[in-house]
Amino acid sequence: MATSTCTDAFYVNDLDSKQLSAGACPVKGCMSDVKAQLVVYNKKHNLPFCPVHGLRIHGKTFVYYNGGSKEQKELAFKRNIAFNWNFFQAHFIQNTKKVGGHRLSWENSEDAVTYNVFTEMARTQDALRQLLKDVTGTATNKPVELYLWGHRIDLASNTAPYYPHLNQLINELEPGISIATEPDIILRVPGDMLVFIEAKFTSENSLSKDRPAKAGEKPHRVREMVQRYVEQNPFLAEANPFAPDRFPAVIYGQLFRNLVFCASAAKLEGIGKWAVVNLRAQKFMEIRAEEVESEVKELLLPVHQGRFKHYTWERLHEHIKNEADLKNVVSYLEAKSAFCEPAFVLG
Ligand SMILES: [Zn+2]
Repeated sequence: MATSTCTDAFYVNDLDSKQLSAGACPVKGCMSDVKAQLVVYNKKHNLPFCPVHGLRIHGKTFVYYNGGSKEQKELAFKRNIAFNWNFFQAHFIQNTKKVGGHRLSWENSEDAVTYNVFTEMARTQDALRQLLKDVTGTATNKPVELYLWGHRIDLASNTAPYYPHLNQLINELEPGISIATEPDIILRVPGDMLVFIEAKFTSENSLSKDRPAKAGEKPHRVREMVQRYVEQNPFLAEANPFAPDRFPAVIYGQLFRNLVFCASAAKLEGIGKWAVVNLRAQKFMEIRAEEVESEVKELLLPVHQGRFKHYTWERLHEHIKNEADLKNVVSYLEAKSAFCEPAFVLG
């Protein structure tokens, strides 16, 4: 059994993508024989493994791997969670679907980047308020709540209650669906503002597909999405922001569902100021920001089109880079790798 006791996390300065392309461990100067112990991945692939650095090697990227036991998997997650590990362990390891199914120990995990950056930003309310102002155009001096994957991040009280309306929304909009919609990030000023953020790191936004949904699946076809999320949506009966007559044959399904859930939640909460943000990384944006923005805005009635915003991790870095309290997360963004190269295009 391939195992490792390495507890280190590796950043741009530790890594050499050329070693990786040559089939070796990507940690600079590592001479381990990565073929000596292979690790079975997904029941069918035997992948190279560096026991010194505890890395499973996947072509152009790596995955932290310490072994197959529950404790070893947790250790691998911990190496990718740079901040607020105790909170993560207490609230996200046991009781969510995050663990196992999702790719938390992967170099390119968008969930790990999201958790690291946003939980640190939540330490200073200013950073969250600035982001809210940037995307809604309105300043607030009220407390901002942060939710990740539906759970409130309350580091001070070490609690992670579920977003109050998410179950109601899921019960009404997605009965019988096995994997319900789960907004990555929610920023909420109770009674005042609501922003849902769909975060991407190295992957692109997912598109609708022209195929029928199997039992328990969300709809794939645009027509079926409109039926379920707009026409049959009790929350939007009197306040529908969408223009379904203008929907093209293919849409950004995930972004559309974020708009639906955010609009519906805002209605439930009596909040007028709501918006949805698509947060992406410049280097991996094959589809330009303007294209995504114009395509998503087409789904909305003109008066609501300003509710969708495209944003980048780079812009976020620009906003926080001089905040003394956020030095750690600024350094994290600067040192973060993707495919063993700098992940972000920073000035
Ligand atoms: Zn190595």
